[in-house]
Amino acid sequence: MKILVVNAGSSSLKYQLISMSEEIVLAKGLCDRIGLPGSLIKHKTFDDRAVTKEIEMKDHKDAIASLIKVLTHEQWGVIKSLEEITAVGHRVVHGGEKFIKSVIINDEVMKTLEECIELAPLHNPPNITGIKACQHTMPKVPQIAVFDTAFHQTMPKKAYIYALPYEYYDKYKVRKFGFHGTSHKYVAERAAHILGKPLNTLKIVTCHLGNGSSIAAVDCGKTIDTSMGFTPLDGLAMGTRCGAIDPAVVTFIMHKEGLTTEQMDEIMNKKSGVLAISGVSSDFRDLDTAVKQGNDRAALALEIFAYQVKKFIGSYACAMGGLDAIVFTAGIGENNDVMRSMICDGLEFLGVSINEDKNKTRGIEIDISNEDARVRTLVIPTNEELAIAKETKKLICEC
Ligand code: AMP
Repeated sequence: MKILVVNAGSSSLKYQLISMSEEIVLAKGLCDRIGLPGSLIKHKTFDDRAVTKEIEMKDHKDAIASLIKVLTHEQWGVIKSLEEITAVGHRVVHGGEKFIKSVIINDEVMKTLEECIELAPLHNPPNITGIKACQHTMPKVPQIAVFDTAFHQTMPKKAYIYALPYEYYDKYKVRKFGFHGTSHKYVAERAAHILGKPLNTLKIVTCHLGNGSSIAAVDCGKTIDTSMGFTPLDGLAMGTRCGAIDPAVVTFIMHKEGLTTEQMDEIMNKKSGVLAISGVSSDFRDLDTAVKQGNDRAALALEIFAYQVKKFIGSYACAMGGLDAIVFTAGIGENNDVMRSMICDGLEFLGVSINEDKNKTRGIEIDISNEDARVRTLVIPTNEELAIAKETKKLICEC
């Protein structure tokens, strides 16, 4: 069984074709600058055949047609025809309260997806465009939607209701949703596998630390709380996002600086986070370099980030009434051993104790704890595409 995984953005579309029997990526790539001059496709196969080609892609339909062409190409292809694609799994950012798990897409689902647009106006429209383009090009191939929000739909009301007039929840669904659900679910399942214990017996804090970062409390396989909220702006300070701040600061700055809501939104999403604290970069590698050169604000940005992650771990251990494992994943979580050390430093009272030699490893699944640590600390590379492909396979096999 071969499954195509599609992650459609507004002007780009990432794809992977995965063979499910061996769980290997046959080919992956990116259609970039869709609808813009100079649109191109970058494609790479499992046996290192790679091509980057400028192709005119006016819209997502053109992008899907181009990727099918390259997947079936004599020189660059990995399949003979699109008949070999059993199903397509789509990453969809926001499923609101309507979708608590992945679904096979039909007309009714499409209608509900459209209703979710107002919850994620930047992300859901391109996701929907990607689905429509695939339906157009592959009308006989089942399409499945896998939601970033779905895994967190198990949160109890006490975790997701905001202390705002209740009518805003009733009228507009203003509540905590949480994001990166596919990643949190995947690494929690892998953690249980590595620890050799059933997931439904474990209390795990999963730390997805990348350009966007979120933390989840996964109690017996179910999210009971997570750091992102109504939008992916909440929680930790991130690359360019401010994370949780006193909400009164927003109106204060808007008033002082005479800003519109759009300008304030842009500042909080694109001009804040570690970029703003450091004045250097949103990329943690650049911050590491700046710290080595004696930049105090870059050091402060890293300290703030580590402190915030530490506080979430502690509060989620309390929320779950215990802690068996901490998982680090995504760009920073998987690769930045110094950041992992900073976060774990001081958590010995919880039973966390990491081995600095093991901590130096990167890019592989590893338990970096000392032998006698009561709480296991794991590094697990996330694989959202494989997780989407597995969800897709599960739904196809069920029906
Ligand atoms: P992501 O959004 O998951 O791609 O993560 C992006 C963040 O991960 C950036 O801040 C990078 O600095 C960090 N990152 C990615 N790769 C590495 C690496 N090899 N070493 C250190 N940090 C990395």
